[in-house]
Amino acid sequence: MIMGDAEAFTREFLPLFRPVPPTRPGVCRICHSGPNNVGDTGGPWATCASCKRTTKNLYGHTQYVVPISLTTTNTQLYDVLVRKRDPNGPGGRRKRADFLAATVSHFYHQHAHCLQGLAGGPFTLVATIPSNNLDTPAKAFHIMWQVVERVGALARLWRPLLLEADTMFAPVLADRRAHRDAFRVPRSDRLDNARVLLVDDLFVSGAHVQSAASALIEAGAAAVVTLVIARLINPASKDPYSAGIWKQACEQPFSFDCCCICDRHDRAQNPRNL
Ligand SMILES: [Zn+2]
Ligand SMILES: [Zn+2]
Repeated sequence: MIMGDAEAFTREFLPLFRPVPPTRPGVCRICHSGPNNVGDTGGPWATCASCKRTTKNLYGHTQYVVPISLTTTNTQLYDVLVRKRDPNGPGGRRKRADFLAATVSHFYHQHAHCLQGLAGGPFTLVATIPSNNLDTPAKAFHIMWQVVERVGALARLWRPLLLEADTMFAPVLADRRAHRDAFRVPRSDRLDNARVLLVDDLFVSGAHVQSAASALIEAGAAAVVTLVIARLINPASKDPYSAGIWKQACEQPFSFDCCCICDRHDRAQNPRNL
């Protein structure tokens, strides 16, 4: 996908996105959201309740999840990602895969340096997570393969690194728990010193992402940074932070010019994409 096309395409759909806050007290240092709670010190935990749970008992985990947008369950973005609907913009309905490819392409073009900074250098490999889901056959073609394939900078580096280990782990993941054996990396793939960009669609608890990251790190990856299209947030959560994070995300304009890593509260000075 050519950058100009991706930019024009995503401009049509800017209202679907909500800005992701940079890490701060109450905003998880891994996934940039909640749910969070008050820890022993009286302040919030550094990581949210989901990340606390899904980073346990693994070989390793990704410390950086960079969502392009926040979402709740009653948004058009959620419908596109989860209910597999085609997005509807001012120009009419567009194909879901085109929308996802344009979104990843535009974001990666603007923020590759932010993601690479977290990885400690340029990415050497790109991975996507295979479907590990009770509702779909094991070999189901995951949408993110199709998306990454269309983003030149990522397609070059993509390898089928992650294989579903066994369907027995599907209920574990569905229960929002991570497992170090849920995915495996083929023995032929040596990942020594690799810097891997892991790309996924929706981050709910991190069970899939963290299980996948664990397998990559166990296979030798030096760094795993995760790019997700959206991080799900529950504004009705009783925790003291989720509602505020979502309220702020709805009040601030979204722009592809900044992300949760390079955000320096400069949206007002740099409203090019509004
Ligand atoms: Zn988190
Ligand atoms: Zn950035």
